[in-house]
Amino acid sequence: MEFSIIKQYFTGIGAPVPSEVTLAIGDDAACWQAPDGQQHVMSIDTAVAGVHFPVTSDWFDVAYRAVGCAASDLAAMGASPAFATLAITLPKASNDQLAHLSQGLDSALKQAGLALIGGDTTSGQQLVLTLSVHGWAPKPIRRSGAQQGDAVMISGPTGLAGAALAYLDNWEDCPQPWWLAYFRPHGRFDMVASLRQFASAAIDVSDGLLADLQHICQASNVGAVVEADQLDLSWRAHLTETAAIELALTAGDDYQVLCTVAKANVAAMEKLGFRSIGRIDGAVEGVQAMYNGQLLSFNQLGYLHQS
Ligand code: ADP
Ligand code: MG
Repeated sequence: MEFSIIKQYFTGIGAPVPSEVTLAIGDDAACWQAPDGQQHVMSIDTAVAGVHFPVTSDWFDVAYRAVGCAASDLAAMGASPAFATLAITLPKASNDQLAHLSQGLDSALKQAGLALIGGDTTSGQQLVLTLSVHGWAPKPIRRSGAQQGDAVMISGPTGLAGAALAYLDNWEDCPQPWWLAYFRPHGRFDMVASLRQFASAAIDVSDGLLADLQHICQASNVGAVVEADQLDLSWRAHLTETAAIELALTAGDDYQVLCTVAKANVAAMEKLGFRSIGRIDGAVEGVQAMYNGQLLSFNQLGYLHQS
């Protein structure tokens, strides 16, 4: 790809290059050195037009969302943000679209605290963004550390981004907090210090709260119960409580951090903004959701039943 495009739109954006990076954009490769005593944590995510975002989306929004979703994995590992690389496939685009893309990347990378230190630019039929994100952690928090008796805690409300998807063809009618949840996801780096101190296991909610809790349970070889009564549904607006609960438990894309915490540390985590929504329970197989003392179940379409 023409170096002029790289120079104009993908150079000099994002957070400042950290001192650990000894070579950034402009050579055949980038180089860095992890800080002493910390592990290098890396994750990569691809966003494809028509699959991960509507083809009609503004490229600022697409870029912002791609960075936010990718960065979220670092926060969920208890890593501090360092830098990113970007592989991009560009369809025919106007200068305006490219400028929006560049501005969206810039804002989201700055918000996350990620420098952009390299990438690859090619042309193709559809817009595709692949972001690799990198950070450091003294001791990355895995999915496998949940212990019998731990509380299940979450860093914020879920369901808003899922609720926004009903407005794909008429965003102007979408409640603003829902639109923001979908198009401005943020890795919860503000919670990394708390997670490092208190979380036994952590994951970011990208597939849905129950599905992602299931990942923790499988990795940790435990079961869990979620109390739907404890969910934050303050965002639900005109939705019924049942519809909001269903979205909060099964819709993805909110990028809150779900973690497990020893009982003794629950009060401290609540003070830091986490909400207790359930517990790890060895007597339960997989993940159960309860509401008013009754077991909830979902059919294949995700429809909520009280049994
Ligand atoms: P090469 O031919 O050696 O692979 P490129 O021409 O692809 O190099 O890229 C030149 C420089 O620009 C490299 O340092 C690369 O990391 C950087 N770069 C290319 N595309 C992007 C992009 N989309 N975002 C950030 N950096 C990029
Ligand atoms: Mg090269």
